[in-house]
Amino acid sequence: MNIEVKNITKQFGAFAALKDVSLGIKSGELMALLGPSGSGKTTLLRIIAGLEWPDAGQVFFNGVDVMSMTVRSRNVGFVFQHYALFRHMTVFENVAFGLRVRKGPDRASEAQIKERVMKLLNLVHIGWLADRYPSQLSGGQRQRVALARALAIEPSVLLLDEPFGALDSKVRKDLRRWLRRLHDELHVTSILVTHDQEEALEVADRVVVMGDGRIEQVGTPAEIYDDPATAFVHEFIGESVMLPVKVEGGAVELNSHGLKLDARGAPEGPATFYARPDDFRIAELHAQHLRGRVTGVRRFGATRRLDVEIDGKNGPAHIETSFPAGFDPRVGDEIGLYPERYRVFAKPETGS
Ligand code: ADP
Ligand code: MG
Repeated sequence: MNIEVKNITKQFGAFAALKDVSLGIKSGELMALLGPSGSGKTTLLRIIAGLEWPDAGQVFFNGVDVMSMTVRSRNVGFVFQHYALFRHMTVFENVAFGLRVRKGPDRASEAQIKERVMKLLNLVHIGWLADRYPSQLSGGQRQRVALARALAIEPSVLLLDEPFGALDSKVRKDLRRWLRRLHDELHVTSILVTHDQEEALEVADRVVVMGDGRIEQVGTPAEIYDDPATAFVHEFIGESVMLPVKVEGGAVELNSHGLKLDARGAPEGPATFYARPDDFRIAELHAQHLRGRVTGVRRFGATRRLDVEIDGKNGPAHIETSFPAGFDPRVGDEIGLYPERYRVFAKPETGS
């Protein structure tokens, strides 16, 4: 089932939660919606599910406008962080619920229900817990039951809103890897909402980065990390080294040492130079390189890392980079640095 979201706008009173959001999700894809709290992820997911209606815009499933369809007829399965299991029902009955409430010709026989529920419980590796009650399960096991329950109706689309948000980090990591393997088996078109970049980048085929009710970028995890489209994405994902600069004649000057770099299309005027800490190569100390002072030398196993403070008119910036064998830096040394990779974004009108 492919999903097309077209020009969705949603206001809550005077507050614009979604501002002209358009997005395509391919059939069988696992897409992550990633963004800080309040960026509109849940609202977008609820609109796709049919739990919330936009002020303007449409959602299409396989080209069909679903705006007038209910949750049930859209055939979506969902797992929310706080979407509780039925406490008075066993694990088996929780998963069977969606099948039992069906009416008419869709209604499965008791034998079919039993077979399907046990198959699902085994798929999520909790077949042995079928007779337990939710209170007898760990948080991770409960979320597996919630997922089995969502899958029971054979949804065309699976929507997951911070499904592992309440679990501790070790369990989260195990569950997200397991979710990825499960998706590879089932290929249900899935949307995973998370504010955890590691989770999104590790699990998803593609990631939608949202900020303040808008889509900032859509891309594969590698594209998002290596080629951030906006200052927001650069700052939100991974670590950023930022230096205030000014674009003049299509170039930016770093430090007061005369290193000039192409501004890569950024408009003339105040801007910010962005790089990842790893994007710097250690270079000789001369005018064409950035100057920095070593503030720490550390090693983790085979990797040696250097903490460097960049000086100059742009103010100090801290970078952490690996360095080649044979180079023996000491704290206090002055060294040269060259950014192998960087971007320049115009300074936003407000905020940082
Ligand atoms: P996210 O899931 O990215 O944290 P949400 O989609 O839940 O963001 O919310 C986006 C913004 O819309 C938030 O500022 C939130 O307070 C607001 N919002 C969400 N639902 C409602 C609602 N029912 N009434 C009023 N404001 C809401
Ligand atoms: Mg949310």
